[in-house]
Amino acid sequence: MAGLYTFPGGLILEGHKAISTSQPISKAGIPERLFVPLNQHIGSPAECVVKKGEHVLKGQMIGSVTDYVAVPVHAPSSGIVIDIQKFPAAHASGLPNDVVIIEPDGKDEWLKRKPLPDITELDPSELRNMIRCAGIVGLGGAAFPTFIKLNPVGHQISTLILNGAECEPYISCDDMLMRERPHEIIDGAIIMRHALNAGKVIIAIEENKPEAIDSLQALANDLDWLNIQSIPVIYPTGGERQLVKVLTGRDVPSQGLPLDLDLVVSNVATAAAVHLALDHQQPLISRIITVTGSGVNSPRNFEALIGTPMSDLIDLAGGYTEDADRLIMGGPMMGITLKTDATPVVKASNCLLVQTPADHATETISRPCIRCGECVKVCPVKLLPQQLYWFSQSKNLDGLQTHHLFDCIECGCCSVVCPSHIPLVQYFRYGKSESWKKEQEMIKSDRARERTEARTKRLERIKAEKKAQHAARAKKTAAGDDRKKEIQAAVARTKAKKAENAGDTDNLST
Ligand code: SF4
Ligand code: SF4
Repeated sequence: MAGLYTFPGGLILEGHKAISTSQPISKAGIPERLFVPLNQHIGSPAECVVKKGEHVLKGQMIGSVTDYVAVPVHAPSSGIVIDIQKFPAAHASGLPNDVVIIEPDGKDEWLKRKPLPDITELDPSELRNMIRCAGIVGLGGAAFPTFIKLNPVGHQISTLILNGAECEPYISCDDMLMRERPHEIIDGAIIMRHALNAGKVIIAIEENKPEAIDSLQALANDLDWLNIQSIPVIYPTGGERQLVKVLTGRDVPSQGLPLDLDLVVSNVATAAAVHLALDHQQPLISRIITVTGSGVNSPRNFEALIGTPMSDLIDLAGGYTEDADRLIMGGPMMGITLKTDATPVVKASNCLLVQTPADHATETISRPCIRCGECVKVCPVKLLPQQLYWFSQSKNLDGLQTHHLFDCIECGCCSVVCPSHIPLVQYFRYGKSESWKKEQEMIKSDRARERTEARTKRLERIKAEKKAQHAARAKKTAAGDDRKKEIQAAVARTKAKKAENAGDTDNLST
């Protein structure tokens, strides 16, 4: 492979990864209850297709979808559906989500699975459909439906990039997957390459993961279409745009996608999930999750069923330390704070980070911006974070738009270096949600205006039609009156004639 490139900004952060990689991945087992959310992906939520009291089998679909941007949800183990209710969601909003609660029967009995034909003989559209039916989404944290990424309409994909950078501190689930199950990733890569009709595949891994690199390289030696590429350790090199830049030197356009450069980027764990779905007919019902941080006694990686309460994983990891005080799903830079450890594992849960007060001591001392420009130097997207901060504070949504807020990947580099400890990313998330709200309101008011205009037009049309009918009737009446007059005149003429004739007769009789 040709030389690598660099992206602007970024930070070299302490990894804190070794604390969770000393033990192999362990199976978390079947919990007492599974809480399976129907909305675990970007797009429309799945609709529940099971009823309270129903017995379900492992792998059975419990949530179906009709909208395009959506994937179904499956039962992670066999058991009884004991309820369908709202439950805390693993989402930044923390708003409750519809959840199917299953009491496992302990048999872990699979739905009957049909063996598939050789996948390389299947049409790419059939593969995509199977990947969709298996509920596969991006497992790097974004949870975007994978079948859509594998449908590059109008593009000839040159390269599929499998992202094994895992650049955020503490998270090690992809590292452990690459070390222990490299064949799953490569088998998934074969399927995804076929679905995309892509020329080559690059698996990009940060160079601080030598075991993972060796493990994949050992299988890749005979595959001329596959390149295992080590990349420098710099945060956020695992961001799609940054990874594309590092590997190709090309810039994904603002508000664009790698697809615009005929590239597709997917996570290594997603490739493994694709392999399990198509080679073993196993829908996405489990994932590897790192349970780590200074607030948990024995950090490690678990293979956990979707729907497992986070509290169960904490127990399996030796429980909380005495001073544990914060739960984050994801890493310290881009993760979201969870309100409760009853929150279940979802498809996007790559890490559960347990923090102590020492981990976030600086957050309480936010001071005014001193315009030092440090945030600008580290922004990997070349934004002006301090400007965005002012616009967010003053709710200047137009300013946020013109300064490309939506290009912000929320990497948190600016917040980390800010000497005033301003929680910049929180302001940007707020700015984005306000902009979305405004856009929704505009769409709503546009629709209301369209409806009013359509109603006005309809009423005007009806009025015009009535007027025309009235005019036609009046014309008809007028025509009728003329005719009546003509008839009356004719009758009068006839009468006059008769009278005249009668007069003539009188004359004859005299
Ligand atoms: S780093 Fe902080 S203090 Fe410095 S310019 Fe940016 S927001 Fe202001
Ligand atoms: S959070 Fe946004 S503004 Fe801040 S450094 Fe990252 S991309 Fe730039």
